[in-house]
Amino acid sequence: MIPRDQHNLSRKQISHGALRVLYGLKDAGFRACLVGGAVRDLLLERRPKDFDVATSATPEEVRKLFRNCRLIGRRFRLAHVIFGPEIVEVATFRGTGTGGDDGNGTGDRHVVDGRILRDNVWGTIEEDALRRDFRVNALYYDIADFSVIDFVGGIEDLEQKRLRLIGDAATRYREDPVRMLRAVRLAAKLGFTIDPVAEAPFDALGSLLADAPPARLFDECQKMFLAGYGLASFRTLVRYGLMKQLFPGTARALAQDDSGALRAMIERGLAGTDTRVADGRPVTPAFLFAVLLWGEVATLAAKLQAEGTVRSLAWQRAAHRVMAEQGKRVAIPRRFGYAIEEIWALQPRFAERTRKRVFRLMAHPRFRAAYDFLLMRADESDALRESGEWWTRAQELSPDELSASLGPRPPGAPAGEAAAKPKRRRRRGGRRGKAADTRPDTQE
Ligand code: ATP
Ligand code: MG
Repeated sequence: MIPRDQHNLSRKQISHGALRVLYGLKDAGFRACLVGGAVRDLLLERRPKDFDVATSATPEEVRKLFRNCRLIGRRFRLAHVIFGPEIVEVATFRGTGTGGDDGNGTGDRHVVDGRILRDNVWGTIEEDALRRDFRVNALYYDIADFSVIDFVGGIEDLEQKRLRLIGDAATRYREDPVRMLRAVRLAAKLGFTIDPVAEAPFDALGSLLADAPPARLFDECQKMFLAGYGLASFRTLVRYGLMKQLFPGTARALAQDDSGALRAMIERGLAGTDTRVADGRPVTPAFLFAVLLWGEVATLAAKLQAEGTVRSLAWQRAAHRVMAEQGKRVAIPRRFGYAIEEIWALQPRFAERTRKRVFRLMAHPRFRAAYDFLLMRADESDALRESGEWWTRAQELSPDELSASLGPRPPGAPAGEAAAKPKRRRRRGGRRGKAADTRPDTQE
């Protein structure tokens, strides 16, 4: 136990919502601690993403204490206490027992082939610490006396900047294979090393990720790639050979990427996303998945075209096939799926520079995202680099200037691009002009 005057974690750094929850629980006679990422990050002098609370109160007892409370989860039941935009996650101390009814019908733990499918047996704080994943994640800040409690050596690991699992590595990964991805993600986020013992089973047990629920893997992907440390996460995944478990097609494409162009493109896309997050701009999974899956879809589309399928159909089929395969691993919600396929489908259209097609492409709602995507592909060839520069210039010109730059108009056509269009088109042209000013950010 580290008393309050011997650590740097102070109440001032804890969110309003989390403090309300901690004090509310304590005043009602329950034990209440801040736990997990928040304690870890505050001790590292980083700003926590969210605040998790662990308590001796059951979810039902938590609900009775806070009006603004929702019980969620089946596999892992917990309470969400909501304060405006802030959600404080409140978990009851978990036990290590094998389960059975705890008297009020809520305790159960379900394990199949070593995998924990449900984990709802309540326990003591000491037991709770032991079932957490990494030592650095099992530190508690006790609201009763403001001490930090370290049951498993988490402080030592924080000092050494390394991630060690609690308990036997293989057993803990079998219980929940997603812990392998959590190791990668936290190593990337914190700049920590993964302890050799924690890393050793990755090769042998990585394939267990194939059985993890695809929706959960999508959530984990968002945390890895859209939280500001996506490039580091990608490099760590590649280094540990786990890319093939999450994105098998991408891993194959990267293995054949002799020039390194695909890898460079993915890294550019991820770095761009990280910059956006750092600047507080919005990011979307669609752009990111479009980047990650590009190598595979481009190869497949080229193959289908070589076999005689017309271009647009080849792209459509390639996109469908790649998305269907990827969906077996990572469940990409439909609305992102559409956006991804559109970004891809627009790529070949950048090669066409007739007046009509240029203006049509620029009016497309996904133009901006597709254009940013094109810029990332600059390394693929000189032609693409030139194309990117051409489209950058095209957007800097007024519609009339752009039209003029596209060569002489057919004889008899009135001057000005907008005037050259039939009525319906002209309206569209007008909207396009506006869209160019209030151009939405790429990734929205
Ligand atoms: P972040 O900073 O990204 O929120 P975190 O460590 O807080 O990282 P959460 O998903 O918020 O991650 O989980 C909170 C805590 O719950 C973790 O610190 C850990 O103690 C515990 N935990 C989460 N997922 C698991 C898991 N799969 N197995 C064991 N313990 C877990
Ligand atoms: Mg957290």
